[in-house]
Amino acid sequence: MDTSAFTDFTMTVAGRAVAGAASYEVLDPADETVVAGAPVCSPEQLDQAVAAARAALPGWSATPLEERRRLVLAVADAVEAQLEPLKRLLTREQGKSLDDAAAEILGFGYWLRGTAALSLPETVNEDSAERLSVTRRVPLGVVGAIVPWNYPLGNAGFKLAPALLAGNTVVWKPSPFTPLVTLKVGELLREVLPPGALNVVSGGAELGPWMTAHPGIDMISYTGSTRTGREVMAGAAPTLTRVTLELGGNDAAIVLPDVDVPAVAEKLFWGAFANSGQVCLAIKRLYVHRDVHQPLLRALAAYAATVRVGRGTEPGVRLGPVQNRPQYERVLDLLRDSHAQGHRFAAGGRAGEGTGYFVAPTLVDDPPESSRIVQEEQFGPVLPVLRFDDVEDAVARANASEYGLGASVWSSDPEAALAVGRRLRAGTVWINEVQHLTPLVTFAGHKQSGLGSESGAEGLLEYTAPQTVTLRRATAPSPSPPQPRPETRA
Ligand code: NAD
Repeated sequence: MDTSAFTDFTMTVAGRAVAGAASYEVLDPADETVVAGAPVCSPEQLDQAVAAARAALPGWSATPLEERRRLVLAVADAVEAQLEPLKRLLTREQGKSLDDAAAEILGFGYWLRGTAALSLPETVNEDSAERLSVTRRVPLGVVGAIVPWNYPLGNAGFKLAPALLAGNTVVWKPSPFTPLVTLKVGELLREVLPPGALNVVSGGAELGPWMTAHPGIDMISYTGSTRTGREVMAGAAPTLTRVTLELGGNDAAIVLPDVDVPAVAEKLFWGAFANSGQVCLAIKRLYVHRDVHQPLLRALAAYAATVRVGRGTEPGVRLGPVQNRPQYERVLDLLRDSHAQGHRFAAGGRAGEGTGYFVAPTLVDDPPESSRIVQEEQFGPVLPVLRFDDVEDAVARANASEYGLGASVWSSDPEAALAVGRRLRAGTVWINEVQHLTPLVTFAGHKQSGLGSESGAEGLLEYTAPQTVTLRRATAPSPSPPQPRPETRA
């Protein structure tokens, strides 16, 4: 792929380039300049993409699993081979540093390879002289993959790999804020996958709802906010379209008093601020025991002062801007509220100067539990550092959330930390680390953080339906019809 390819972005339908019915401008969040125009998919073009996916379904689902496995690996190879140009494009449209963009692209490959190692189970229910009964897993059909803007490619890998491996065909829709890398990957894969197995469409706010309501789509695999997740579920209800929802979080980390403060400060910082806090599994509420609250807050503030914030393409920058203007306004609104409530700030608390959606890494010193900065998912570089006296209180506060995505406990005593961790109501609980995910481990949101799961053997099953096939063995005698017993009354 040469660089000139990056000036021309088309959708992919049935293995061919499709220009949009119109186009819109994709902005660089570091300075609001236009990166490129992206196609706007019309309802007719969405129909064509769904029809292409449906036409490809019989062939793809009948392709032997080993061949689908090989092609999923080929997708990883094709994307990784374009690491350099893709990472530059990802940084331009998303804002993250070049190193983080490279990590996301390589993470996509890692996810595809790991998922490709999985197999679909078959259960023999009965294997007798009379009958063979087997439950196997069959693909759901056409999967609509809807992805947010924080990890446009990373989040897509969670969906594409299991969907394709399980024998489904896909219509993939990126966020309107970050469509460009997705469109380029669609273009690259035209040569890799059979036509129609993977279709890529882009457009505005209306495209997602069209997909959830589309009668030709059998499953929506959605990652994004909880509010939109409710709309997806409602949109899918009339056709009983299957949904997997990976939604928002307000993850708590609990720091016990025996922790080694210098050893954990840096890990906690990145647990909260990686990708400028725009991580579903970021630490969003840090509960610290009174004995170590102030030392840890000082260590976090000192570390924050060493982290360079700026345009992702500049050397040495670790944190880029917030990805888009609505999210930037949301983060600033939360900061304004905190200032108005008189909260203390140990670091940051303000927007950057000049153009771009920059916010300095912000530490809020023990705001009230009821404040918006604690109760709402910030999804930006902002962390309330809360104090507790009694671990019972910390557990109760951590669990008092509509969210239940991830959680972590930090201590020098692993057993004590595990005992606390097991009481947290979240889909993933880490001890002395955070955000460690692999393609072989199930990832699921509890409460309003999601429905269903992604990754691992269970995540793969989400893209399938169980089908039980029974064979009445010809050699066995036919069963006698039930004879009414004389004493039976109708
Ligand atoms: P969002 O809900 O605004 O948008 C996500 C995607 O849904 C976009 O592609 C958007 O175009 C589409 N969409 C919007 N309205 C739709 C509708 N009515 N029907 C169908 N599709 C629709 O989310 P966002 O702001 O892009 O992403 C941030 C959120 O995503 C955060 O809450 C974050 O926690 C969450 N997230 C969750 C996970 C996870 O795995 N649990 C991972 C990453 C991000």
